[in-house]
Amino acid sequence: MKFEVTILGSSSATPVYNRNPTAQLLNCNEKFYLIDCGEGTQQQLIKYGIRSSKIDHVFISHLHGDHYFGLIGLLSSMHLNGRTKPMKIFGPEPLLEILNLQFKHSDTSLKFPIEFTAVQADKPTCIYENQDLSVETIILNHRIPCTGFKFREKKRLRKLLVEKLEADQVPIEYYPLLKRGVDLDLPNGSTILNIDYTVDSNEPKTYCYCSDTLADGTYLDSIKNSTVLYHEATFLHELLDRAIFTHHTTALQAAEIAQQTGASKLLIGHFSSRYKTLQPLLDEAAAVFPNTELALEGVTYLI
Ligand SMILES: [Zn+2]
Ligand SMILES: [Zn+2]
Repeated sequence: MKFEVTILGSSSATPVYNRNPTAQLLNCNEKFYLIDCGEGTQQQLIKYGIRSSKIDHVFISHLHGDHYFGLIGLLSSMHLNGRTKPMKIFGPEPLLEILNLQFKHSDTSLKFPIEFTAVQADKPTCIYENQDLSVETIILNHRIPCTGFKFREKKRLRKLLVEKLEADQVPIEYYPLLKRGVDLDLPNGSTILNIDYTVDSNEPKTYCYCSDTLADGTYLDSIKNSTVLYHEATFLHELLDRAIFTHHTTALQAAEIAQQTGASKLLIGHFSSRYKTLQPLLDEAAAVFPNTELALEGVTYLI
């Protein structure tokens, strides 16, 4: 099953040096989940050849503009392009009011319904699930209410050993039960043990998205053992005072968090506009947590 994330924006606050404000697109089993939607996100989708009509879920971490100013434009274009299927949006409660105000004063009556879920930033909560994954909030510590999101794959059915099944002429109609781990008692008195014909599926993977936050350790329990941890790293550690003042994280702190929580891989992003080149941020984080990569726009990372 496909589980990967494409970076659409990695800049903090303002677009700069060809870096756009925050947005990411998660693909889980060919369903597409937009995570934050900074200004220019729809143009980034066009640039990277991604059809926005494939997106049915949007998750907004908080109401600083660099995380949602692109949403009204994206929704408006979907409306103009004739979208009719519902759009699920998860975000802080005032977001719906903001969107409705913009639609009201442009006399826009959307051709598709918005199914809005207000996300509370007080305790970790499962806000969505389907057959592929679940989404839980991560309670971050920012200047305004802010949540990250934990996307956790669901455990898949057992894998069939098809060659062995065919060699032993096991009827194909038994396959669905074997996938579910069932042993079969046949009419002739014999038994088919599923352990002989199946193996366990891969362990479910987890993608944790930590947007803007002070690195205060309060949310570490929520992000334990991420397969991939995305964590903001706005500043180099020499600007720790600035990071604390603005409720952001340094590259060094992001790496320490990845190490402390047992992440397999760290992606850092939300880079300050003061950094024209990003290598120093990568070097600082990788010195503590070697399996670190920069979240670079247009790049897709396997989870
Ligand atoms: Zn931000
Ligand atoms: Zn912010």
